[in-house]
Amino acid sequence: MKISDINLRIIQDSRGEDTLEVVVIADALTAIASVPAGKSKGKHEVFSQDPTACLTKLEEVKDKILNVDFVSVSEFDNRLKELDGTINKSNLGGNLILVLSIAFTKLLAKSNNLQTYQLIEQVMEKKSRKFPYLYFNLIGGGLHAKDSLPFQEYLLVAKFASPLEGLEYAKLQVSKLKEDIIKNFGEERYGDEGAFAIKNNDPLLGLEILKRNVDNQNVSLALDVAASTFYENGQYKIGEKTFDTSTMLDLYKSLISAFPLLSIEDPFSEDDKEGFRQIYALLKDTIWIIGDDLTVTSKILIQKAYDGREITGVIIKPNQIGSVSETLNAIKLAKNLGLKIIVSHRSGETNDDFIADLAFGVGADGLKSGSPTQPQRMIKYNRLIEIEKQIS
Ligand code: PEP
Ligand code: MG
Repeated sequence: MKISDINLRIIQDSRGEDTLEVVVIADALTAIASVPAGKSKGKHEVFSQDPTACLTKLEEVKDKILNVDFVSVSEFDNRLKELDGTINKSNLGGNLILVLSIAFTKLLAKSNNLQTYQLIEQVMEKKSRKFPYLYFNLIGGGLHAKDSLPFQEYLLVAKFASPLEGLEYAKLQVSKLKEDIIKNFGEERYGDEGAFAIKNNDPLLGLEILKRNVDNQNVSLALDVAASTFYENGQYKIGEKTFDTSTMLDLYKSLISAFPLLSIEDPFSEDDKEGFRQIYALLKDTIWIIGDDLTVTSKILIQKAYDGREITGVIIKPNQIGSVSETLNAIKLAKNLGLKIIVSHRSGETNDDFIADLAFGVGADGLKSGSPTQPQRMIKYNRLIEIEKQIS
């Protein structure tokens, strides 16, 4: 497929920060894509270029992409990587490469009369279909909400076979939680992903509030601790208290019997591999131990964490690695290793729904897209519901 034109512009993400949106054109077809931004980022994520600089960067390389016949997403991505010429995409930027890569993927699907998830299924050589569990971040803290709980995300996991049922349940929970939180804490505040924020230092409070409201067998709870964000000099600082690796592990041990937890993400800092090894040794058969900052959608880091017996699953965020084909390669590897896959949005999001097609197309175990209170989050859940309608 040959691209005849590319229009790149700057838009605002859900935090009001600049990001990129692109329209790519081939004959009568167009595709639009935009990219998100993280706040609690892993150290080894690819470089994100200043959006204004991206406008110039694209002009410099545009004629090397236009009117070239690219037959696959990987061929297109490889050209962009060649043009970038760096290991961490620090020239063009992972954000510029990814926005083009997502738009190209959508356009290639359209030009083959396929839905985006169907093209992904072909690349993945996938035979069966399932909807991912929906990970709703309903109570938030950490870097995503000022003066709030220490852990970043207290999640409700809807495990219904139908995404529509899951979304309906999550919306009901939001209303129940709102009443509970206003009554007991006297405040109604929201973090970056639309999750409720509460001024309190107790790391378990979010789970307690969720547990007392959740009333369905198809629902579990989950945590994204984002522990790298409060780790300093070998210690975890939670409110006035400090924990070391072993006392953090004790804390997690106590959670297992108290709460119906399905998974725990980034329970230790990306620099505390020993912590990951210990929790893996102790709890690998009890809950999913998920790497995010630790693995950053990188094949190399996923393999390392697997070899080190540190994780049983990974978060997949396309903008951590900066192209669709590398994201798919990371997922293929993780699947071959038997790891759980949770596709995730970022805390600064846009109206792009690509990750819903990605999650369904690869047969992910989970899709994490924040609280159903923000349009940028809802658009992903709604896309899954649209897919559900298409295939039933
Ligand atoms: C996360 O840590 O899983 C997350 C979504 O946050 P951010 O996008 O800020 O990295
Ligand atoms: Mg995370």
